[in-house]
Amino acid sequence: MIIISPVDGHLHVRDKEMLKNVLPYSASQFVAAVIMPNLVPPVVTAFQVDQYRREIISGLAPEFKYFQPYMTTYLTENSDPADIRFGFIDRVFIAAKLYPPHGTTNSDQGVGDIKKIFSVLAVMEEIGMVLCLHGEMPPSSKIDIFDREKVFLYEKLEPIIREFPKLKIVVEHVTTKEACDFVIEHNLQATITPQHLLFDRNALFSNGLQPDIYCLPILKRDIHLRRIQEVVKAGYKNFGLGTDSAPHLKENKYKPCGCAGVFSAPVAHEAYYQFFVANKIEHLYQAFASDNMANFYGMELPKKKLEIAQVENGWTVPDDFHNVRPLFAGEKLFHKAQIMI
Ligand SMILES: [Zn+2]
Repeated sequence: MIIISPVDGHLHVRDKEMLKNVLPYSASQFVAAVIMPNLVPPVVTAFQVDQYRREIISGLAPEFKYFQPYMTTYLTENSDPADIRFGFIDRVFIAAKLYPPHGTTNSDQGVGDIKKIFSVLAVMEEIGMVLCLHGEMPPSSKIDIFDREKVFLYEKLEPIIREFPKLKIVVEHVTTKEACDFVIEHNLQATITPQHLLFDRNALFSNGLQPDIYCLPILKRDIHLRRIQEVVKAGYKNFGLGTDSAPHLKENKYKPCGCAGVFSAPVAHEAYYQFFVANKIEHLYQAFASDNMANFYGMELPKKKLEIAQVENGWTVPDDFHNVRPLFAGEKLFHKAQIMI
């Protein structure tokens, strides 16, 4: 199978040494990615995003120079509408990311009171800039962890849509039936991670606790998994690939109160594509893995081909990538994906 210009619609590459270690895995599978801004400290201004973009580009080995990082800026209650406008017009970033405070990795400065960023959202709506949402209520809200996404839709997202009907919105990493239906009903965009396409919450506890697939939003029960699979099989243009690959060093992941996040970058296409093969919908993979997100963002992607080849007897995923354990560590996969250089 050949896919033209695959793009990862949601990616964490971190910074410094971790960035250098993990970036090649994404660059060898994608020509571009939407890069998330939740560093420590988060990248909150056009200047900081530009610095981060330069760090990513300078970290690319010569063979991966085609790789295009599409940057996002981190919204806080103090975000400056003028800075957002400048950064977008100047093509420093293409989107802004809204995190619930303390809702996931490095989200302490996220937005609690949505009204405080209405002036920013007004500018974004006017200039056609995308709002990316970690669509969950914050943990402090005492809402059951399995309901945080569903409640967010009605308590936070609906008011935003009412106030800013033309604002372009991506609901990142959808995990529920309600989110899928909401995205279709309001004609929004959404990303789907490999783990949310393949597993329900039982997988977290199968043969013991499985931190490798512990992420936020957390995996949900099977009716939600089935709805996610249904919308992918139906080929809605509203849904596209976004790995949310989020590496954590083993010492931070496998400890009491270990970090949330799945490192899927080294096996991204292999993980998604097995679902497309199993359901005989390989013909939908081009749209899912590239066109749907690229068209929504208006990206002009570098033109390169990805080859997804079948591996007859399978290959075993290594269990260590620079002290990070990947999705499917030690398991067999039956495809190999590689950008043709
Ligand atoms: Zn993420």
